Amino acid sequence: MAEGEPILRIENVTKQFGKLSAVNDVSLDIVDGEFFTIVGPSGSGKTTLLRMLAGLDKPSVGDVILRGKRVNDVPANKRPTCMVFQSLALFNHRTVGQNIEFSLKMRGVSRAARRERCMELMNVVRLQEDYYAKGVTKCSGGERQRVALARALASDPDIMFFDEPLSAIDYQLRKLLEVELKDLHRETGKTFVYITHSLEEAMVMSDRIGIMQAGCLIQIGSPDEIYTQPLNKFVSEFMGEVNTLPVKAGANGKFDCADLGTQLAGPASANGSDSGYLVIRPESMRFLDDPAEADNHVKGSLFNEYAMGSRVQYHVRAGTQMLVVEKLREQAYKGQINDDVMIGWDVKDSVLVSD
Ligand code: ATP
Repeated sequence: MAEGEPILRIENVTKQFGKLSAVNDVSLDIVDGEFFTIVGPSGSGKTTLLRMLAGLDKPSVGDVILRGKRVNDVPANKRPTCMVFQSLALFNHRTVGQNIEFSLKMRGVSRAARRERCMELMNVVRLQEDYYAKGVTKCSGGERQRVALARALASDPDIMFFDEPLSAIDYQLRKLLEVELKDLHRETGKTFVYITHSLEEAMVMSDRIGIMQAGCLIQIGSPDEIYTQPLNKFVSEFMGEVNTLPVKAGANGKFDCADLGTQLAGPASANGSDSGYLVIRPESMRFLDDPAEADNHVKGSLFNEYAMGSRVQYHVRAGTQMLVVEKLREQAYKGQINDDVMIGWDVKDSVLVSD
């Protein structure tokens, strides 16, 4: 969990493109040393926000404050920060070493000192020494990623900004690089500000996550808070497969769920609203032999099952809903497709959210 003073603060920042507010009245404190990720769907304003944080664009309204000083008018190259782009923006006609040493050379660091620092950085990002003289175009996607990271680290920035650096990389390598980035954050102790459209990616790496929707930062929290207490239906569904049941307050303190044609026990609404959506994660659902085994039970028919490595996912047709149940392989359902099944969950594993 992040602690301490904000290194970077934005206050009521808006970015207007004509009539469009790409970023709309966003305020945020980034804490020194934290890994903060801004997540949102395409067009939600992530890049625009990051560019203002990094000094590549100026806000139309509001202030950007770096270590207590207003820096709206200080360009990115005059700030102790640097950006790693999705495109990586490497010098393709140069070697790995020349790319990494670029900022050191610009600062007049001697050849020998540059080389020494470059070797240290290659070690940090796990690039073998013999890559020093290799042309970057001869490197693989993952290696190029490491070169871009080492090049960014060479200027010893206080804050590193990342603009979807892993989005063009295949799944397996991306998973590896996510872990490496998190380790790099820990090893360097620097502040990382990262954007991605993948909440899954954000969950793995971040201390805190900010969720963007239509130009607004609608929820900020730790991965655990976002996962267990999503602000609304948008956030809960953005996190991947989830059961979202529309409900209205009914008799006996229960909720009426028209989709399932039944009453459900649910948690008290945080905002006092008497309707919304009950959100239940697939892993909180279980197969029941007896209704008494869970606070809620629903009868349905097993539509299909999907092996997912260590887990198995089931789709169960119930009323007008297709409910998703996920179990560890050792707890797999022992039965057949089209079986009549009973599934259920406990109130503590559900959240009531608004639209
Ligand atoms: P993506 O994940 O697709 O990169 P994003 O969340 O980063 O999306 P932005 O690139 O910040 O979103 O764009 C937010 C909105 O602002 C979009 O509607 C986009 O078309 C618009 N926009 C961004 N830059 C400009 C610009 N220079 N001029 C006009 N409109 C822009």
